[in-house]
Amino acid sequence: MSSEQLAVKSSSSSLVDSALRDLESLYHADSRPWVVAFSGGKDSTVILQLVFNMLLALGKRATKKVFVLSSDTQVEAPNVAEYVVSALDRIQQAATDLHLPLSTILVRPTPAESYWGKLIGKGYPPPSRWFRWCTSNMKIKPSRRAIEEITLKHGSVILLLGTRFAESPQRGRTMQAREINSRGLNPHHEIPNALVATPIADWTTDDVWEYLSYSPCPWGADHSFLFALYRQASGGECPVVFDLNTPSCGGSRFGCWTCTVVKEDKSLQGFIRSGQDELQPLVDFRDWLIVLRDKPGYRSEVKRNGNIGPGPFLPTARQEILERLLALEEEVKLPLVGDAELAYIQEEWSREFDFQGNLAHKLAARYGRDIAMPEARIPHAEDELLEQAAVECGLNPDLIRQLLEIRRRDFPSLDKWGAKAQFERAVGDLVTKAAQQAEQTTQV
Ligand code: SF4
Repeated sequence: MSSEQLAVKSSSSSLVDSALRDLESLYHADSRPWVVAFSGGKDSTVILQLVFNMLLALGKRATKKVFVLSSDTQVEAPNVAEYVVSALDRIQQAATDLHLPLSTILVRPTPAESYWGKLIGKGYPPPSRWFRWCTSNMKIKPSRRAIEEITLKHGSVILLLGTRFAESPQRGRTMQAREINSRGLNPHHEIPNALVATPIADWTTDDVWEYLSYSPCPWGADHSFLFALYRQASGGECPVVFDLNTPSCGGSRFGCWTCTVVKEDKSLQGFIRSGQDELQPLVDFRDWLIVLRDKPGYRSEVKRNGNIGPGPFLPTARQEILERLLALEEEVKLPLVGDAELAYIQEEWSREFDFQGNLAHKLAARYGRDIAMPEARIPHAEDELLEQAAVECGLNPDLIRQLLEIRRRDFPSLDKWGAKAQFERAVGDLVTKAAQQAEQTTQV
């Protein structure tokens, strides 16, 4: 090691010693459990490594619970998702073997919150800077649920974030604006009963890399993937997101492969430039989604609230997207859409336009996916009779099926106070929607 490197190392070891001292005094200051937000990025890896080392040094005196929270949107870049999941497994295993009071939590969006649930199931347009529905659904809600579960049990938590002043001017300003108490904690402005600590707020980027380079990883991994990740992919850091004040995660190394919020996905492009050509079809698919956002004939001309303007993707567009997604999955041999999401998509389609209730199921089956079907809504024979009668009377059979479905599913009884009025409104909405759809179809 050169004398220059030794000098750097000793300056960073005093920084590390002081961070460990501060962490230890914070750990003993109260009984609130800790939640370390671990994205797999360099800053959160430093925090986790410091905490892990502190617990090891405390030995039997380490009794307070520490949770390591990561989030998986289910549309992460596949190599990054794999890295985070395997890192979490390793961390949990090491903590168990070493009898540390540390548990890992990996949160995921529910099918209704997921990217494909929203885009293909409900027909949301791909997220943009003006309609960024993804972050709150796929990241914030699942993380908040996990935090709420912990606060419900323990009363309150301390969130340990790897936020640093040097990382971005915006973050620096947000951090400075927060009210900090004598222990360096500030209340989270949106999560009740959560205090925030930022133990490496003053570290420079060089401090972070020096620490990761010289300090052995206590859960037995090496950081070679992490170093390669920062060499190969560009873009900023993407922390675990708890609120919308966090700068957009689009375009970061840890962003979703489907991210249409940014013009160019620097992270995937970086991986491809460094030889991972198998990711190219994902980039092409994402670019296609951006084109679809504004393609004539793909979106309803009426928004969901009834206002005129580009609304949800039309049923045909949603079917086309699902079909291409399933084909892409087959091409790249990576799991891209889960069974639960497919079942949710079917459920949404059945509610909105697929009254046989099997379109998504049939598409999935064509690509070898056998998803559990929501219960058949109308028995087969009855369905045929209904269709025949509707055609004879010159009515739209789909509309009739949907009206029956509303009555059966949402209003099994009209005895309750206000039920009749609600039922009438629901019927009115459905008829208006069907008329609008019919009008659009005539115009196309
Ligand atoms: S990476 Fe992009 S798509 Fe994913 S949550 Fe962030 S802004 Fe949304």
